[in-house]
Amino acid sequence: MTNQEGMGVQGWRCTRCGHHYAMSRRVCRECGGEELETVSLGREGTIYAFTTIRVPPARWQEKAPYTVAVIDMEAGGRLTGVVQARPEEMAIGKRVRAVRSEEGVYIFRL
Ligand SMILES: [Zn+2]
Repeated sequence: MTNQEGMGVQGWRCTRCGHHYAMSRRVCRECGGEELETVSLGREGTIYAFTTIRVPPARWQEKAPYTVAVIDMEAGGRLTGVVQARPEEMAIGKRVRAVRSEEGVYIFRL
């Protein structure tokens, strides 16, 4: 996904068993298959876990505090992204939508 609304979150899919991954891997964890193809994981996902970052790495300093969440993508795959929401709006199980990526990090909204 580029900074504009694009094809969604990039992921990988095992060509043997169809398992989806949000991170590139050499070998499928599920079936040992060695061929993974690039796919879109879509834009919609569900919050699996989250935390609010108040002391960020230097390059994200001006954005703090911000919320980092582990997100289960609807199409499969789990990734960590930033959710633009107030901490009190966050809850496990809430649906989020990827809106863009910044420096390789996907930014989501509720
Ligand atoms: Zn597989």
